[in-house]
Amino acid sequence: MSDQFDLVVRSPRILADGAWFDGAVAVRDGAVAALVGPREAADLPARRVLDARAGCVIPGLVDTHAHFRDPGYTHKEDITAGTRAAAAGGVTTVFDMPNVDPPTNSAERLRDHLDNAAAKTVIDIGHNASGVVPERIAELAEHGATAFKVWQMRDIGRDYPHPPGTSVTEDQVLYQIFEEVTRTGLPLYVHPHNQSLYDLFVRRARQRWGTDFRSYARALRDGDGVVLNTAIAQLLEFQRSTGCRLHILHVATREGIELIRRAKQQGRPITAEANPFAMFLTNSWDLIEQKGPYCLGFWVPEQDNPAMWDAIVDGTIDVVGSDHGPHTREEKEVGWTDMYAAPGGQPMIQHYLQLMLTKVHEGVLTLERLVELASTAPAKLAGYYPRKGTIRVGADADLVVVDLDHEEVLSAERALYRCGWASTEGLKTRGAPVVTVQRGRVLYERGTVTAEAGSGRVLRPDRG
Ligand SMILES: [Zn+2]
Repeated sequence: MSDQFDLVVRSPRILADGAWFDGAVAVRDGAVAALVGPREAADLPARRVLDARAGCVIPGLVDTHAHFRDPGYTHKEDITAGTRAAAAGGVTTVFDMPNVDPPTNSAERLRDHLDNAAAKTVIDIGHNASGVVPERIAELAEHGATAFKVWQMRDIGRDYPHPPGTSVTEDQVLYQIFEEVTRTGLPLYVHPHNQSLYDLFVRRARQRWGTDFRSYARALRDGDGVVLNTAIAQLLEFQRSTGCRLHILHVATREGIELIRRAKQQGRPITAEANPFAMFLTNSWDLIEQKGPYCLGFWVPEQDNPAMWDAIVDGTIDVVGSDHGPHTREEKEVGWTDMYAAPGGQPMIQHYLQLMLTKVHEGVLTLERLVELASTAPAKLAGYYPRKGTIRVGADADLVVVDLDHEEVLSAERALYRCGWASTEGLKTRGAPVVTVQRGRVLYERGTVTAEAGSGRVLRPDRG
């Protein structure tokens, strides 16, 4: 029959446009075709009915910050493995980062990158291009960059994850990048870092504490966050001067948060991001002692924790991005004795929803706020709201069925990452995604990813 739906998802708790309702989401041709109440829901004609009455339904997560290592570092991760893990973690849309080989700092490289992603992805994917060459920013915007990313951090003593072609340490270059990105109207994502001060603190840390993971953790936080805070102050000033849409990554210092809060109060186009490693792992010195290089990353000292969580709850921090950043065990093992030679970063994309749901269970965060942080706000940031990031008629039918009572001790055994380990190993969680639906097709169901490589779509902003 012609008015049959492709899929109907029934639940007494569906979060649609920020409000809960009881009934069903009816999907046709990949989009939400209707939202109906419980009585009508019982006899909607549908090819498939998903009974989610034991759980709740939220929009699929939108992750604006993933490092899939593809191409160039596919011994760590690749787009198929990374997006399968994403689907299992309730993520339906992802934007990957440009520290691949070659870095995506020209239109040709961006085109090749998106073609490679199209063949491999199981979820919808777009790309944050490398903005390090000011002259190339306009062409990258024309060819489908969703945003631009630059690191103020440059690697010393290792050549990854901040290789040349991704980092900017010259103020005059950074300022021109702000100018050029402003012209495109796209957001600029910056990893804030004062490289010159950091070099000083690394020298001191090596003298005082040697080269192990503890020394590395302390070096970045020497001077009580000044390496991060001076960078944030500079970025905010460049933003004020140019009017650029600025997205500040890895926010985790008291003063940095205060600076961002004040700038945002002036109505400026600034967003801020927190990352799960800093919310659940490296904010505990005990966990750093246990997991060492596998969770570093940046240490967040105890005195900065409350400010960070306040900012996550009150909206000063807008977005939680997974910062999924796998490396091999061999690469990480070096870090027990010389973390300055080991790469920072860890896999995360499959587990961060479970970790955040645990905070919902603990009463730290509401489920509505979680959805804003991990779905709605990132969709807005990337320019895909309301097609993504919400459940409403006309939006893509990207849905996650969540079981709020599912208890699980996280384990690498069930993780789909190519690297075979998980920094989240052993963490106790409550709440988990049980079904992930993208554009009306079931990608993941109770432990199994059913979507095939290449079945996701590449997202390019509509440049009119
Ligand atoms: Zn990152």
